[in-house]
Amino acid sequence: MKVDFSRYPFLVSLNDYMVAVHKYIVDLDSLLENKSIVNLAVKRIESAIKGRIFDGRGLSTDDLVISFHIAVLLIKKVNSRWLQSRFANFEAERSYRFLQEEDQRSLMNVLRVSGVNVDKPRKELRILVGYTKGGREVYDAYDFIIAFQGYVRYTRRFWGEGKWKLVNRLVSGGFVYIRQDELARLGKEVFYVKIMGMFDEIELVPIQTLESLADKVKQLIPEKYVETSGLGGLSLTGKTGKVVVEALPPCIKRIYNAMLKGDNLSHHERFAIATFLLALGVDTEYLVNLFRNLPDFNEKITRYQIEHLAGKRGSGRKYSPYNCESMRSRGLCVAECGVKHPLTYYFSELRKLKKEKDREKTQPASSETRR
Ligand code: SF4
Repeated sequence: MKVDFSRYPFLVSLNDYMVAVHKYIVDLDSLLENKSIVNLAVKRIESAIKGRIFDGRGLSTDDLVISFHIAVLLIKKVNSRWLQSRFANFEAERSYRFLQEEDQRSLMNVLRVSGVNVDKPRKELRILVGYTKGGREVYDAYDFIIAFQGYVRYTRRFWGEGKWKLVNRLVSGGFVYIRQDELARLGKEVFYVKIMGMFDEIELVPIQTLESLADKVKQLIPEKYVETSGLGGLSLTGKTGKVVVEALPPCIKRIYNAMLKGDNLSHHERFAIATFLLALGVDTEYLVNLFRNLPDFNEKITRYQIEHLAGKRGSGRKYSPYNCESMRSRGLCVAECGVKHPLTYYFSELRKLKKEKDREKTQPASSETRR
């Protein structure tokens, strides 16, 4: 069964596609000279930067496959982790829309080609979930099974929603039962990981045209995202004067670093860092800017959620950060720090750092006195 590569262009390499369809190996130089294809690739990138799903309606499969791969090359050349993640997120979202329209056979086929071990169960599983007003029984149909490892790998980010947690799933013979809509949602995650993997795998050859095109793409990135490939993009210290990054506990520092790199975070990771920083007195504006790094950032929603956590909206309740036990149960604890709350770790580190600084200040003076 064939996959429609215009919908899922990351499931075929540019060379394999060209050989299969046009019977020749692709010549990258001439592709980069093709203005209409390059313009399409840039449009694709621009859509992601603006937070929009690229609309390829009316375009040929050639246009869609080639422009996707040129876009990936350009982004790799630009070397912005934020742009990579942003692009992967919006392209995965685009393909997810198609995946939701697929029939069961095509859905399974697309996911298998993506490397997911998915199958139909020997016996269909239906679970009674309620009744209609007229008293008719309503069932959820679990039409697919997916290998345990794949399930864990691709759903970890959703475990904030109870239904995705393994304890709430039916697991049998190393396979997890899953509904069709859930499988498509998992597919979106698979696509995101796949596209991000492409950026790691590609080795660029030096081509002058690629360099000048990448320079143009760089101009499209809002100023604050240009340097996010390392940890130098944003710094909490200095901007708020309230948070010392060096004193952050390992769990929060890991999330913080992932944010700076533009990685996609789970619901619990977002909650953990937002409530932790709010507890330290960081203001909404600063948090919004930190969240701006995330690939699915939406300013209106983020601002609302942060203000909600800060108790400025809704019930007025301010949410407390997770303690270590809650962090552990959500898989967010990454070290044994001997404390019960990440805030305790932070304040104790802060005191140590302050003492060290005080010592440094006094030492040169005392050695001078000795002389
Ligand atoms: S022990 Fe607590 S502070 Fe340390 S990494 Fe785990 S959750 Fe964070």
